[in-house]
Amino acid sequence: GVLLQAEGLHKVYGTTVALDGADFRINAGEVVAVMGPSGSGKSTLLHCLAGIVPPDSGTVTYRDQQVSSMSDAQRSALRRGDFGFVFQFGQLVPELTCLENAALPMRLAGAGRKDAEAGAKKWLERLEVDDVRHHRPGQVSGGQGQRVAIARALAGNPRVVFADEPTGALDSLNGERVMELLTQAARETQAAVVLVTHESRVAAYSDREVVVRDGKARDMTMLAGAV
Ligand code: ADP
Ligand code: ADP
Repeated sequence: GVLLQAEGLHKVYGTTVALDGADFRINAGEVVAVMGPSGSGKSTLLHCLAGIVPPDSGTVTYRDQQVSSMSDAQRSALRRGDFGFVFQFGQLVPELTCLENAALPMRLAGAGRKDAEAGAKKWLERLEVDDVRHHRPGQVSGGQGQRVAIARALAGNPRVVFADEPTGALDSLNGERVMELLTQAARETQAAVVLVTHESRVAAYSDREVVVRDGKARDMTMLAGAV
C-alpha cells in the first residue's frame, strides 16, 4: 500500500514558484526516481516529503500521519525514527570515524554505543567499506565516503530513504556500484527510496520514474527490469 503521499504541494520562495501543485506517492519497498531539469523543484519536493521544509499548502501523509501539520519537534522525531538521508556532499562529520558516522543516527535515536556500532558495522560490511571504518571521512575516497553515508542512512532501519543526487560526486563506475548496493539494500529491508537524480543512468535503477517540471510532478510509469 501507499507509504508516503503528497497532494497538491505548493511552495513559493519570494517570487519563485518552486512547487505548483505537485502530487507524489510511494509504496513500501518501492524505489522511485524523481527526475527533471535543474531548478524544476525536485529538491523542494524531497524536502517537503521528508518533513524538512513545510509546504505553503497541500498535504504530506506518512502512513496515517499528516506530516504537513506536525510541529517541528514531531517532524524531527519522524525523520530520526523512520527516515534515512543520503545527500551528494558534506554529509559525514569530519571529526568522527566512518564507523562513528554510520552509528550516529542510531545513537541520536537513543541506542547505546555498542549496539549502534554493531549495527553500523554490519552495514559497512554490506557496502564493502568495513576496512575503512576507523578512518575519518577526509582519509577515504569519494566513493567510499558515499558508501559510508548510505550505510549510515540504512543502519537505523528506515522505512523511507531520501537520496538527493547520491551519485552526483562519483565517477560512473562508482556511481553504478553505489546504486546497486543502495537498491539491493532497500529491497532487502523493504525500505522505500525517493531518489532525486538528473541522470537517466541512475534512474534506471528505480522501479518507477516521476518527472518534475515547473513545480509539477508527473508519473512516467515504467516497468522495472524491462531493460
Ligand atoms: P531542483 O532540485 O529541481 O534543481 P529546487 O527544488 O532546488 O530544484 O529549486 C526549485 C526552484 O526554487 C529554483 O528556482 C530554486 O532556485 C528555488 N529555490 C529552492 N530553494 C530555495 C530557497 N531556499 N530559497 C530561494 N529559492 C529557492
Ligand atoms: P540542487 O542541485 O538540488 O537544485 P541547489 O544547488 O540548487 O541544489 O541548492 C542547494 C541548496 O540551496 C538547497 O537546499 C536549496 O533549497 C537552496 N537554494 C536553491 N536555490 C536557492 C536560491 N535561489 N536561494 C536560496 N537558496 C536556494
